[in-house]
Amino acid sequence: MITLKSQPEIETMREAGRIVGLAHEAIAKAIRPGITTLELNAIAEKVIRDHGAIPSFLGYGGFPASICASINNVLVHGIPDHTRLKDGDIISIDIGACYKGYHGDSAWTHAVGEISDEAKNLMKITRESLFVGLQQAKPGNRLGDICHAIGEYVESHGYSVPVDYTGHGIGTEMHEEPAIPNYGKAGRGVLLKEGMTLAIEPMVHAGKPQTRVLQDDWTVVSKDGSLAAHYEHTIVITSTGYEILTVNHFEGGNAL
Ligand code: MG
Ligand code: MG
Repeated sequence: MITLKSQPEIETMREAGRIVGLAHEAIAKAIRPGITTLELNAIAEKVIRDHGAIPSFLGYGGFPASICASINNVLVHGIPDHTRLKDGDIISIDIGACYKGYHGDSAWTHAVGEISDEAKNLMKITRESLFVGLQQAKPGNRLGDICHAIGEYVESHGYSVPVDYTGHGIGTEMHEEPAIPNYGKAGRGVLLKEGMTLAIEPMVHAGKPQTRVLQDDWTVVSKDGSLAAHYEHTIVITSTGYEILTVNHFEGGNAL
């Protein structure tokens, strides 16, 4: 069932989203060669708890940490550990926070030191695909308009969209209906309505779309070893379009 959120509920989700944005900014400041993903996890968890929220991911389906930290060919669900970031890595950080029973969920990919032009372009196109998709987020459009716009944009730049991982509705549960694939047919699917809260999250491979899950049962990597990027915002459909709830202050963080 897809729920429409009331204004008070949206107000609470705005605060959950704001906390997620703050955690992202703290992590972005800390990212440098030599820092471990566990240290990044601790930084995000502190921001979340200091603002009266709970890390949504910790314990979710048994996930052992507060953030997902996915380096280079890891698409999503990387588990923070003692791995040290290296100059030239890219790292996708996914953060969820639950505030007064409502979740915010946002992911961002960062450069570590100096990265290749290939990595820069993958990040650029994946970030842009998020906002190209969001341009379709308005009442009267259908979910497929968002999905189609993301998939078309990614593939027109020679990259691919893994099909097994999707965005989702969000609210009192981190994952609510509907599932939001990063591909689809324009004009199809659920009619978008004011008050829907959605996590839109393009996950993109530089190479082929096939994925593989590592033996830890979490870490999802590109099968061909190609680089991966991931950008996500939680939004609410408004009377005229959408509002980003997980606002951050990165360059190009909240608009194309
Ligand atoms: Mg996420
Ligand atoms: Mg999500």
